[in-house]
Amino acid sequence: MARNCLECGKAFLGREDKKFCEAQCRSSYNNRIQRVRTKFIRDVNIILRRNRYILKQLNPKGKSKASRQLLLEKGFRFSYFTNEYITKAGKRYRFCYYQGYLELDNDYYALVERQEYVE
Ligand SMILES: [Zn+2]
Repeated sequence: MARNCLECGKAFLGREDKKFCEAQCRSSYNNRIQRVRTKFIRDVNIILRRNRYILKQLNPKGKSKASRQLLLEKGFRFSYFTNEYITKAGKRYRFCYYQGYLELDNDYYALVERQEYVE
């Protein structure tokens, strides 16, 4: 059965599980996938570092408050964080490295710094 190479699209014959017409196509394909993944990791790291920077900027003394609106205006991305800490009382802190926040009422957030004893 002839199939089409995943990389160049050319029809080729061979074992059923073969996806590429030749080794060169397989390696170009895999290299591209790897580049896309590396770029994704880099982009996520940039977002996390930017989030950390925004929190730090708004919280220079280690304890502060900020509105959701202000965070969004600065470019904060709520879906990206490095870790979460839920207290016994059920409060959910989210962190971007050392900078954290806790949702309060009325679209406000308490901004905190990571304490060493918090995992
Ligand atoms: Zn090919």
